[in-house]
Amino acid sequence: MPFYHIEVYGCQMNVRDGESLEGILVSAGYRKAPGPDKADVVLVVTCAVRERAEVRALGRVTQLAGVRRRRKPVVVICGCVAQEHGGSLLERFPQVDLVVGPDEYQRLPGLLESGVRAFATGLGSGCDEGVRPVRSMFPRAFVTVARGCDNFCSYCIVPYVRGRERSRKPRDILAEVEELASSGFREITLLGQNVNSYRDGGTGFPELLSMVARAVPECWIRFVTSHPRDFGPELTEAMAGRPNICPALHLPAQSGSDRILERMNRGYARAEYLAKTAMVRERIPGIVLSTDMIAGFPGETDSDFHDSLSLLSEVRFDYGFLFRYSERSGTAAAGMPGSVPVPERLSRLHAMQELQNRITREKSSLLRGKTLPVLITGPGSLEGQLTGRTPGNRTVVVTGADAPPGTFMNVLISRADGWTHFGEKA
Ligand code: SF4
Repeated sequence: MPFYHIEVYGCQMNVRDGESLEGILVSAGYRKAPGPDKADVVLVVTCAVRERAEVRALGRVTQLAGVRRRRKPVVVICGCVAQEHGGSLLERFPQVDLVVGPDEYQRLPGLLESGVRAFATGLGSGCDEGVRPVRSMFPRAFVTVARGCDNFCSYCIVPYVRGRERSRKPRDILAEVEELASSGFREITLLGQNVNSYRDGGTGFPELLSMVARAVPECWIRFVTSHPRDFGPELTEAMAGRPNICPALHLPAQSGSDRILERMNRGYARAEYLAKTAMVRERIPGIVLSTDMIAGFPGETDSDFHDSLSLLSEVRFDYGFLFRYSERSGTAAAGMPGSVPVPERLSRLHAMQELQNRITREKSSLLRGKTLPVLITGPGSLEGQLTGRTPGNRTVVVTGADAPPGTFMNVLISRADGWTHFGEKA
């Protein structure tokens, strides 16, 4: 019986794709190896969104040359870097046998069977139909609702490596979430590059979200990612309308400057973004808001950057994923004039991090003495600890209690350290 080992880099979509890859291999008779040294096939699922992520994943591929000398597993590069660079990766990495892009995963068993060095990077129109993923995060699960993206934000490589937007049928999504709930899963995150673009006939994302939440009232429901241009009152009402839809919204602003938002091709202005965050806070008091921001986009002046800082101060996000701009060749931004020197990008990033970390700490500290519902996700790192998540997706370490993953527990919060909170069973 052949054994596989899989390593995943990057976003939730890659985590979910890794589960599909495992499902495809298990259906073809493969079994999970305890590590790369014991595997007949080693897969690296790569991310191309930022240069650093790509370098990290390909660095791992370089290290696999050692494993290859010892045991000779078939080495496969999957994910967005595979899609981006295709067959050139076979020339660059002699230890690699196969390069397989995200829409070609179902061909993997056949490619392995053929024993020929090859690449497969066609872009498809499906959404993993017929694949039974091997879930890796019990009691939490990702459910893909849409793949691809048509937005072409000027800095982003996703539309080139993940193809055109396509949505799954609501009945397939509902069947998947019902099966997850009956298997004991208690948190479901609906995934799409831009969930707001979801559409199947007359069903848009707000209707889909409500349908899912109604179908599995025993589960908490989340979703990522929402595009600020498309986020609006309908989705806000859908969120407010069901108690099991988590009061958490990730709404990537990317910049606080109208001039830069236009250069990014984001399709909204600062005032619109601020109005939408105010609307959702008014309708869902206490909602946890998070964002993505980019420092040092081409042409970003000091004044544009201060607009980003002031957006962070004004909205006071609970959490921020902050990055320095990273050129991705083939995107519109890579050819734009006004490149900001890397040291300046880093210094702007540090200033944003300092500000957002302070806001995150201040907001987290307000939870001290409060009792929050927590979904237990597993043991903590120390003996006698459990870890879990709040509806706002805050991490909680619980001491002095024992419960299996999938248990809901009220926890009295005693302290917070950034995004991690500590407490005891209430
Ligand atoms: S919405 Fe923009 S940033 Fe998000 S995946 Fe699509 S192109 Fe990339």
